[in-house]
Amino acid sequence: MPVPPIDLSGQVAVVTGSTSGIGRALAEALAGAGASVVLNGLGDPAQIEQARAEIEQSSGRPVRYHGADMTKPAEIGEMITSTHREFGRLDMLVNNAGVQHVSPVEDFPPERWDLIIAINLSAVFHATHAAVPLMKAQGRGRIVNIASAHSLVASPFKSAYVAAKHGVAGFTKSVALELAQTGVTCNAISPGYVRTPLVDGQIADQAKARGISEEAVMRDVILAAQPNKRFVEYDHLSGMLLYLVSDLGASANGANFSVDGGWTAQ
Ligand code: NAD
Repeated sequence: MPVPPIDLSGQVAVVTGSTSGIGRALAEALAGAGASVVLNGLGDPAQIEQARAEIEQSSGRPVRYHGADMTKPAEIGEMITSTHREFGRLDMLVNNAGVQHVSPVEDFPPERWDLIIAINLSAVFHATHAAVPLMKAQGRGRIVNIASAHSLVASPFKSAYVAAKHGVAGFTKSVALELAQTGVTCNAISPGYVRTPLVDGQIADQAKARGISEEAVMRDVILAAQPNKRFVEYDHLSGMLLYLVSDLGASANGANFSVDGGWTAQ
């Protein structure tokens, strides 16, 4: 039997942290498959508006922007409820916003720990908390958390990030079990290294923390982790997301899908 093409026409998605990197690519993929999309994230307002307009034009779907700060629970809740108010539904929530800080634990600034836990973990709860009643009332919904290979394994100097991402993996399983009979699924996608601004920023930090050159970080630290010696590309993540949010993904629940070139198989 042929597999039907993925068509998200009439569906509505919120993608957190979608003004840059992976989130932007995922938002483009959802709009490209027919969904109306709400972008979110920080950045220069003119550049955000340009990105919004580009995705709207290329997809022909409504694309909005909400500036909720992922450290502020009330703003996260408002983003979810105002999306539902405008479009009359909410089908997909992609919890993607994330930040990183690389430092030995004894030097790790406590305020960076708090920030990483707030954005990478607590915001996933706050958005899910607001979205679940709306999705349950519809009898269908898709929550996809962008975790990381670091939700499954650790690296030195990333204690807050690894703790937050392991938390996301556990949260995903718990929510999936709660929702198992509602038509709403909750899964995680765990990328290996993707060449985004977040990774570019780490190269210099890793070099400093380890006392080696930036070239050595790329070769011996970053791509050393990935057996295929290649960065993960945006399309590899978009493909997994489209599967999960479509009807094809209806039986996937509580899972953590590695898209990491074999990193966590080691
Ligand atoms: P990025 O830096 O390119 O994008 C991060 C996004 O989060 C941006 O849109 C930014 O504005 C937003 N953001 C940051 N703080 C925010 C806040 N307080 N409120 C609202 N938005 C905020 O990063 P990326 O590499 O695209 O990472 C996206 C996600 O993928 C993160 O959760 C990250 O942990 C995860 N991830 C990335 C990689 C990688 O190699 N790049 C690997 C595994 C997992």
